[in-house]
Parts: sequence; structure tokens; C-alpha cells
Amino acid sequence: ATPTALLVGTGRGAQLGVLIRGPEVLESTRRVDTVVLDKTGTVTEGRMTLLSVVAADGAREDEVLRLAGALEDASEHPIARAVAEAARERSGALPTPEEFVNVEGLGVRGVVEGRAVLVGRERLLAEEELAMPPELARAMVEAADEGRTAVAVAWDGAARGVLVVADAVKPTSAAAVAELRRLGLTPMLLTGDHARVAATVAREVGIEERHVIAEVLPTDKADVVARLRAEGRVVAMVGDGVNDAAALATADLGLAMGTGTDVAIEAADLTLVSGDLRAAGDAIRLARRTLTTIR
Ligand code: ADP
Ligand code: MG
Repeated sequence: ATPTALLVGTGRGAQLGVLIRGPEVLESTRRVDTVVLDKTGTVTEGRMTLLSVVAADGAREDEVLRLAGALEDASEHPIARAVAEAARERSGALPTPEEFVNVEGLGVRGVVEGRAVLVGRERLLAEEELAMPPELARAMVEAADEGRTAVAVAWDGAARGVLVVADAVKPTSAAAVAELRRLGLTPMLLTGDHARVAATVAREVGIEERHVIAEVLPTDKADVVARLRAEGRVVAMVGDGVNDAAALATADLGLAMGTGTDVAIEAADLTLVSGDLRAAGDAIRLARRTLTTIR
């Protein structure tokens, strides 16, 4: 291999909107057979909007939203931003939490106006042994069946409400997945979100149901990638979040969304500058062509 030809490859990459860490990256790019896609912010826009608020057990909807919003205002998560923004729109200024803890991949916990408040997955509530009224449990299942993400809001020992948020699939994601298939690659979806939400997104972009890996904690994403590699796959991982960084580093090839966090970009071998997933297929095609030319 001549370094000159490889550098031509990296230069063409820049034209395609792909930043390549170094010419040696092209070799692993060429060998990839499996592409694991993070859901939120990679396949979807990662910009959520609040669709509905459900309140139970004598709580009021505006109260649910205000307490949840106050807590979420301290979090960077796309769900948190949607909730805080909607809460501020409806109730104006939000109280500052006296305590705040981010529970990676599960939700947030803290104290607002003297009340211990929790916002997040059912699993987070279960861990704290908080009761879940049947009507709220039902609201969460209904939302998930529609492919929407629902989080519970709890205080004073029980869930008091449910917030339903939605995130749109990027308009280019289905074409990007189709292109990965044409290149002979197996696309997979990896997410911390609910299995039903993940299945809905997978169906929308053309990823097979058996290739959906859902409800994975951020700390376990890298283990999933390691397991796929142990099965003999050559794995590319595409992600955008802080929670994807370890998985990006573990994969044979890490691809970060240029629109994502610096942590993800630093952990990756390639950066898709505009956050358009179609550039992943472009990068793989380019790597194959470049190395064919050299031989
Ligand atoms: P993804 O893998 O899709 O990027 P995460 O691992 O960040 O998702 O989060 C997984 C799930 O944990 C979310 O779908 C949500 O139910 C819950 N969660 C995480 N952070 C928060 C938060 N700040 N507020 C509410 N729920 C959260
Ligand atoms: Mg993400």
C-alpha cells in the first residue's frame, strides 16, 4: 500500500462529508460486515417534543410537568430538554432543585421544593420500590405501542404522572439503511429505549426485528459490541452521545455523528460531519474502492 493512495482516500472522504482520523482507518472500514446504529440522535433527530401529560392519584397535570421540568432542566438528555422546555412554556420560571442526580440510562432523581422527585424509566421506579398506579402503567404501554417514549414522574412514594415524548426518524435514515444492505452489511439498532419503541423505529427504517437490541444500559453498550465481535463479526458502531463513546472505542470502526457530543467524536475513527447517516455507506464504499486501487 502506498501512503499517497491512502491519503487520496482520506481527502475524498472530506469531500463526502466524512472526517477520517488517519489513513490506517480505511483498512478496518473495508472489512466491516455489521453496522450497529444507536437510535436516539443517530437514526432519529434526537430532538424530542412533549406530546402529552397524564396525571394520577390526585396530582395535577401542570404539577407533574412543573416538578419534572425543574429536575430535567439540569439534564442534557433529549427527553430532559423536551420536558424542561414544555414546563417552562406552561408555568414560566422553574424552581431550582435542591438536589440533582443523573442516573445514566434510567432517568433523573432529586429534590424540588422539599419533595423527592424522580423522572425516568419504570425500572428506575422499581429500583426505588415506588408504586405504579395501573392507569399510569397502562399509559406507558399505550405510548410504547405507538412507538413513543414515555417516562414516569414520581414523588412522595409513588408515580404521579407520565410524560409522553416523541422523536422523529431522520428523513435520510431509511435510505442510509437500504444503502448499507446493498453494500452487503447487516444493520442493527442498539438503544437504551423501550423494546417496543425500538421495534417501531427499526420497522420504519428497514432494520430486521431480530437485529434490534433494546433496553441496554449505557455502560452495557460496549459489552454488546464486544459480544458481536466475539461472534466473529467485524463491527462498525455509529453513535452520537456520551453514552456511545465506550461502544465506539470498542468497535472495529467507530463512526460519530458530527452533530453529536465531543466525547463521541473523540472516541470515533470517522466523523460523519453533517450528521447524515448516508455518509456511513459512502465512507465504506470509498474505503473499498481506495484499497482496490492500491492493490
Ligand atoms: P438512547 O440509547 O436511546 O440514546 P439512553 O440510554 O440515553 O437512550 O436512555 C434510555 C432511557 O432511559 C430513555 O429512553 C428514558 O426512558 C430513560 N432516561 C434516560 N435519561 C433520562 C432523563 N434525563 N429523563 C427521563 N428519562 C431518562
Ligand atoms: Mg444517542
